[in-house]
Amino acid sequence: MAKVKPFIIGTRNSGEFLCAGAEILRGGGSAIDAVEASTKLVEANPKDDSVGYAGIPNLLGKVELDASIMDGKTLKTGAVGAVKGYLHVISIARMVMEKTPHVMLVGSGAELFAKSMGFKKQNLLTKDAKEKYQSFLKRYADLPKEGEKPWYVNYDVDFGLRDWYDKLTDKQHGTVNIMAIDAKGNICSGVSTSGTAFKFPGRLGDSPIIGAGNYCDNRFGAAACTGRGELAIRLSLARSLVSYMKNGLSVREACFRGMKDINELHEKGGMNCLAIDNKGNTMSASTSRESVHWYMDVDSKQPEQRTGIWVKE
Ligand code: ASP
Repeated sequence: MAKVKPFIIGTRNSGEFLCAGAEILRGGGSAIDAVEASTKLVEANPKDDSVGYAGIPNLLGKVELDASIMDGKTLKTGAVGAVKGYLHVISIARMVMEKTPHVMLVGSGAELFAKSMGFKKQNLLTKDAKEKYQSFLKRYADLPKEGEKPWYVNYDVDFGLRDWYDKLTDKQHGTVNIMAIDAKGNICSGVSTSGTAFKFPGRLGDSPIIGAGNYCDNRFGAAACTGRGELAIRLSLARSLVSYMKNGLSVREACFRGMKDINELHEKGGMNCLAIDNKGNTMSASTSRESVHWYMDVDSKQPEQRTGIWVKE
């Protein structure tokens, strides 16, 4: 197969975070290092309220982060879910992949692991995110009076979880998907998120679930998702996209087919995907909007915007 010029793609903001990864690839570095470096920039960005620092908190006002990373050469992968107090969950996920015999750690176990690996605990809740949480409470929740059951106990019944969840817009969730191919032809994909805004504590979306929100295999390509994570979990969406490529669909056809699968669930919430094949073709798709993604290769001076496809119902 013809050699692919090393490149990195991602889904977030204006793609400026890709510069760090492109620099690593330019120096002959690995796809894993490139994906981790670029993802960390998004995690640390205080303007980004659905990934890392400044993420919108869960139902109890705590920021809970999920992330996963996958190495397409070995199919090794690491993931963490519902992590509180540690910023670079993509790096913790990478440590799970490289330093443990496991694939996924969640909650207090993931935090214990992060601490033992030397990650520093920090506050991730910004003033702005706290204000969003408080106005959410004012709008949707009747705070319990003394002696009453806390309002989140009957979350679905009293609080209308499903109705409210159906009304979530792109403003209340978001995730960063980044993937790269290096000079050796190795592919890596990474995903990091604070998940759906005001989610139930302990709720995991698709991002840390390998096969749902993230999948990568050098032989075919990689795929990752953002949107209503429950739908991607139900369809094993990222793995399905890679399987479509394995079975001969182009990356564009695979993304189209994956978004059609989502539409066939007839659920609200929307889904987006980002994918590459192992020949270096890139694509993104969405069920709810114009889809774009950002690309940088080793010769790029700045991120290039690429248009994906909108797969309507
Ligand atoms: N997919 C993420 C989740 O369900 C959130 C998002 O991408 O909007 O947690």
